[in-house]
Amino acid sequence: MSHTTLAPHDAPTTHAAPTYVVRTLGCQMNVHDSEHMAGLLEGAGYVAAPSTAQIADVIVINTCAVRENAAGKLYGNLGQLASVKAEHPGMQIAVGGCLAQKDRGEILKRAPYVDVVFGTHNIDVLPVLLERARHNAQAQVEIEESLKVFPSTLPSRRDAIASAWVSISVGCNNTCTFCIVPSLRGKERDRRPGEILAEMQALVQQGAVEITLLGQNVNSYGVEFGDRGAFAKLLRACGDVEGLERVRFTSPHPAAFTDDVIDAMAQTHNVMPSLHMPLQSGSDAVLRAMRRSYRSNKFLGILDRVRVAMPDASITTDIIVGFPGETEDDFLDTLRVVEASRFTSAYTFQYSPRPGTPAYELPALPKEVVQERFVRLLDLQKRISLEENKLMVGKTVELMVLDAAGRKDEASDRFTGRARDNRLVHFAVPDVAAAQGSLPRPGDMVTVGVTYAAPFHLVADSILDAGTYSVRRTHAGDAWDSVQAGEHEHATGGCGDACGTGVGAPGPLVGLGMPTVRTAGS
Ligand code: SF4
Repeated sequence: MSHTTLAPHDAPTTHAAPTYVVRTLGCQMNVHDSEHMAGLLEGAGYVAAPSTAQIADVIVINTCAVRENAAGKLYGNLGQLASVKAEHPGMQIAVGGCLAQKDRGEILKRAPYVDVVFGTHNIDVLPVLLERARHNAQAQVEIEESLKVFPSTLPSRRDAIASAWVSISVGCNNTCTFCIVPSLRGKERDRRPGEILAEMQALVQQGAVEITLLGQNVNSYGVEFGDRGAFAKLLRACGDVEGLERVRFTSPHPAAFTDDVIDAMAQTHNVMPSLHMPLQSGSDAVLRAMRRSYRSNKFLGILDRVRVAMPDASITTDIIVGFPGETEDDFLDTLRVVEASRFTSAYTFQYSPRPGTPAYELPALPKEVVQERFVRLLDLQKRISLEENKLMVGKTVELMVLDAAGRKDEASDRFTGRARDNRLVHFAVPDVAAAQGSLPRPGDMVTVGVTYAAPFHLVADSILDAGTYSVRRTHAGDAWDSVQAGEHEHATGGCGDACGTGVGAPGPLVGLGMPTVRTAGS
């Protein structure tokens, strides 16, 4: 995700305060880390470059080493920035995230115009490193081997008002052979429940109505402080956070998935009936080769129990096709498990070797074999997604309205929301709503009837036939209103507590020592 695009021939920024852009490559964990990078920069006196800006004083690239061709994407981005920087002396480029943690000084060898390289364990030092690089006129590379400051305690600048992520753990104690995460993010570190709940309460006060708990392996939460039931307890405690309407989590690991979590999901009013649980393969032999310690029967058993406890649960997954050694029979096992699982949707990936992982050296399957299996899997999942979505037609759903950017298109005049089970739904609003100024705002809850199903979304145009349509205004919508009314400068940060997406008024530029951690409203 890139917050802006850079064109080499645009005029330099004319803002009084230096501007920044954070470009995020990779997963939700990275998106969340980027919010902290933005918060740190704003705490140090930078302001977000306006969305129309073509250049910024600082460009941060938050890299990913997990996704395919991560290095290609990073160096592609850097190559493009090199000429921009050449025309704008004083501009700084910083590279953080997983690939920075892995490649370290190598990045400077390949891209000597980079000013700062920092790792996944020390994003808190970003403003200091930028200042030091500027002051010393020398690139700064600083990588920590283990976490010093839990990222959640750092300032943050969120893009959305209604939805927030809260990380409950970082790192992973598993050793999946295709995964680089354990070597880059380290062993699992768990936050204390009180800290997590306090952050959730603060976010709700600032406008959030939906919170997603984040961890590489959320249901092993508690392993660090010796409480195996900690994740289920945490979910139940979420039910007591007043004003919090929707709780989700990502991702659980099937091996550690216990029934107390299912009970807590089903019995906690604001934990949503949606589960994203990576399958990766339906073949037990491949799961063994991946060093994933569950088997397909266990996986299917969890889904059965989830559906008994929550008949309306929508279940999604991740699947890797073409892991080294995968035979046609192994692949047919995956198709069998996918058929039986009835996933609402699946993120499917063709296996590609990641340097630094145990599976890297294994002989790869021919590309055309992987591609052909991939297409078969996509076709199957598309059919199942459509069948599952068609079951929703005629049902009434409550949607949390997404930001305007989530609108399907201007021409259709539909708004977009997420159902409780996380399905994407486009819906029509009454003609009079715009005239009366009663359009639903992002974060408001809308109740509508589903009228049409496609594989990847639903349409709920019930109002067009004088059917179900009602809007429940929420404090997230109120916070969005106040941003629109210009009650604080959301777009350039500094809006602090008022909308919950800022970090307080920008302070002075940080010195060469350690930055002071600013908390919202401080
Ligand atoms: S559980 Fe496996 S795939 Fe997930 S982060 Fe840990 S090692 Fe990687």
